[in-house]
Amino acid sequence: MMTLQGKTAVITGSNSGIGLGIARELARAGADVVLNSFTDRAQDHELAAQIATEFGVSARYLAADMSKAQECRDLIKEAGACDILVNNAGIQHVSPVEDFPTESWDAIIAINLSSAFHTTAVAVPMMRAAGWGRVVNIASAHGLTASPFKSAYVAAKHGVVGLTKTVALETAEDPITCNAICPGYVLTPLVEAQIPDTMKKYDMSREDVIKKVMLERQPSREFATVEQLGGSTVFFCSDAAAQITGTTLSVDGGWTAL
Ligand code: NAD
Repeated sequence: MMTLQGKTAVITGSNSGIGLGIARELARAGADVVLNSFTDRAQDHELAAQIATEFGVSARYLAADMSKAQECRDLIKEAGACDILVNNAGIQHVSPVEDFPTESWDAIIAINLSSAFHTTAVAVPMMRAAGWGRVVNIASAHGLTASPFKSAYVAAKHGVVGLTKTVALETAEDPITCNAICPGYVLTPLVEAQIPDTMKKYDMSREDVIKKVMLERQPSREFATVEQLGGSTVFFCSDAAAQITGTTLSVDGGWTAL
């Protein structure tokens, strides 16, 4: 069903994983999409071309580094329209707090948290002018709970939930909503990258790391999928969600119910 026809969605960090899944589901619902990451390769632009062909929408890829304030702001300006903003770009680093490299802390706070501030600051006036807007922040179960060795990530994701509530209050009287989605584990390149170290650390097989370490936190014992996160984003953009603002939607197989 083409419910988002005529809307333009900007999805940060969307040349892979959850961001790409969200871009595809927004395009399936009829939105024009702007994909983004920090690279500028032929294959990045090809992803946008594939979405345009598959869903009959307009799709572009704009390179911008979400660790840089000005590039975050310029991305939204360059998009020209931003009815739907999905702040999704994110990285991870795992280390005890006493050994956590300062540059990893700074990069995680910049990409996972500050980028959402910069893009939102530019997008909200555009949404007000357009008379409609949706901000969807991809936080995490780690925006609501913690795990050891992920100090920067947990701090950034809790920050994203706080930013979500604040922007929701500032836009509450406008036809704009701002919400966060809190996924549990989703098998994307970000999670794949954590498997080899965890195998070494616990002397476990790949299968055991997935079952006994990762999905141990997730009562459903299943990964959430990028399509499910795309569907949750489309829901936040629907008329049914017009009075839902400043809240979180957990897509975590029951993790945060424990
Ligand atoms: P991913 O590594 O597949 O995707 C991350 C995206 O961010 C990629 O497109 C990458 O190119 C982009 N990115 C990284 N640095 C960037 C930068 N400096 N500028 C612009 N783009 C940049 O990982 P994912 O799992 O799809 O993660 C997407 C989001 O979902 C992240 O915010 C992550 O924290 C969150 N999340 C993931 C999981 C999970 O289990 N995979 C769970 C909860 C939350």
